[in-house]
Amino acid sequence: MVEDTDIDDIIEEDVGNIMNVITTDGYYLQAQVVKVSCPACGEEFLGTKRHAGGFIAGHRAFHEFENTRDTIVESMGGI
Ligand SMILES: [Zn+2]
Repeated sequence: MVEDTDIDDIIEEDVGNIMNVITTDGYYLQAQVVKVSCPACGEEFLGTKRHAGGFIAGHRAFHEFENTRDTIVESMGGI
């Protein structure tokens, strides 16, 4: 029997557990709780794989943006 859990109630001890997670964007059945950290800045995320994917993609986009911005500024002879 897989338990229903609200996304707000997930804690570190839940990592690796399979649960039905209720979130604002839907109901994730048999979702595994994962913990990931961003290799670029070390920020950590705890939640479902679906949300971890968003976290990773968001950080990748953000850090790429930062790097690109620096490169553009440098190429223009800036700071
Ligand atoms: Zn990051």
